[in-house]
Amino acid sequence: MNERILISGASVAGLTLAYWLARYGFRPTVVERAPGMRAGGNGVDVSGLAVDVVERMGIMPSVRAAATDVRGMKFVDADDRTRARIALQGASSVELMRGDLVALLYDSARDGVEYLFGDSVSRLEQDEDGVTVTFERAGARRFDLVVGADGLHSTTRRLAFGPEARHLHHGGHYFAFADADAGLGEDRWVTMFNQPGRMAGIYRSGRHTQAKAYFIFRSGPLAYDHRDTAQQKELVRRAFADGSPWRIGELLAGALADPEFYFDALAQVRMDSWSTGRVALVGDAAWCASPASGAGAELALVGAYRLAGELAAAGGDHRLAFSRYHAGHRGLVRAKQQIGFNVRLMVPRTTFGRRVRDTVARLPLFPALGAVERLLQTGNRRTLPDYQV
Ligand SMILES: Cc1cc2nc3c(=O)[nH]c(=O)nc-3n(C[C@H](O)[C@H](O)[C@H](O)COP(=O)(O)OP(=O)(O)OC[C@H]3O[C@@H](n4cnc5c(N)ncnc54)[C@H](O)[C@@H]3O)c2cc1C
Repeated sequence: MNERILISGASVAGLTLAYWLARYGFRPTVVERAPGMRAGGNGVDVSGLAVDVVERMGIMPSVRAAATDVRGMKFVDADDRTRARIALQGASSVELMRGDLVALLYDSARDGVEYLFGDSVSRLEQDEDGVTVTFERAGARRFDLVVGADGLHSTTRRLAFGPEARHLHHGGHYFAFADADAGLGEDRWVTMFNQPGRMAGIYRSGRHTQAKAYFIFRSGPLAYDHRDTAQQKELVRRAFADGSPWRIGELLAGALADPEFYFDALAQVRMDSWSTGRVALVGDAAWCASPASGAGAELALVGAYRLAGELAAAGGDHRLAFSRYHAGHRGLVRAKQQIGFNVRLMVPRTTFGRRVRDTVARLPLFPALGAVERLLQTGNRRTLPDYQV
């Protein structure tokens, strides 16, 4: 039945997959490179079909209780005067801090799941009957299937599908998240300050005393080590170094001191197939739509639910399950990838673009867009399969 399944990565996709696999009677093992759960990040959305997934896991009340209750975003000038506000229109989705979502998923995915923290896959050898996995620390072990849920720079993808450059598409921007002084920004609002091609912002959840800093800057591909945080901090410092209008100086100082500082390219992963033999991918490793899509958590939750459900429905037949998983989920992924590189609202390229953005933001246009989005999500809701096994 292909019972022993290794999942690489203990974040939204990996933990959701582990939960459903264990519930269907598989024996998942999760390996996570970090020494424990990674709590970093800003707000992420549980929206669309993901609401159903989380409801079926029984954790929707806890997700709602952890909601950040952010009212919307506002754009300010160098003197901190508000130029425009966009209020969020009571959407059906729930925004919560990524760390809170991961903690809830981890609490749910304990029974029947083995965890290996502080380790990573270093080699995969497939044959007819299974996969021999060599770990950096734990030595070699045998599994029936391996699933890479190890994010944008997935090791599993590199080992099983080839070099990262084959699948990663650069979106022309970099972004960083970090802790910020709790006194900055406005309670329950995302405050953004723009210069051409750059944005610095403050995220203030209604449920956390700690504020969060946002940085986005426009740039072609940069050469750096995606596991070297000191190097990444230096890239952000340099990108915002020419003068420190508004609160940029304070935000930078806080970010550079934050050990949970998170930096990456605004990039997408595009692949023809999410499986090869007994190895499959899920979440950002397979289809990252970019943080600007606002759909990373939704796609990870729904994709992991589908992958586990298809494996259960196919009685563990991985060929059948992997192809149904791909066929069932790729439409939603494509739709989210189409919006994933659009950062014009948050990062106008020119001063003129910023003025146009501020003017448009003052129009009652966004409530209408919110209504259209809710309508589209209602359409999506009908398509989440019910795996009765
Ligand atoms: C610390 C952090 C902060 C984030 N903050 C935000 C945010 O504020 N806003 C946003 O939109 N998105 C954020 N993201 C990305 C977001 O979590 C994903 O887009 C989305 O939730 C899909 O999640 P995922 O599980 O596919 O991948 P990810 O959330 O990226 O998780 C991948 C996991 O795999 C682990 N991993 C990586 N390599 C290996 C390896 N070789 N072996 C074992 N484990 C490995 C990582 O440590 C991580 O736990 C963040 C991700 C991380 C890891």
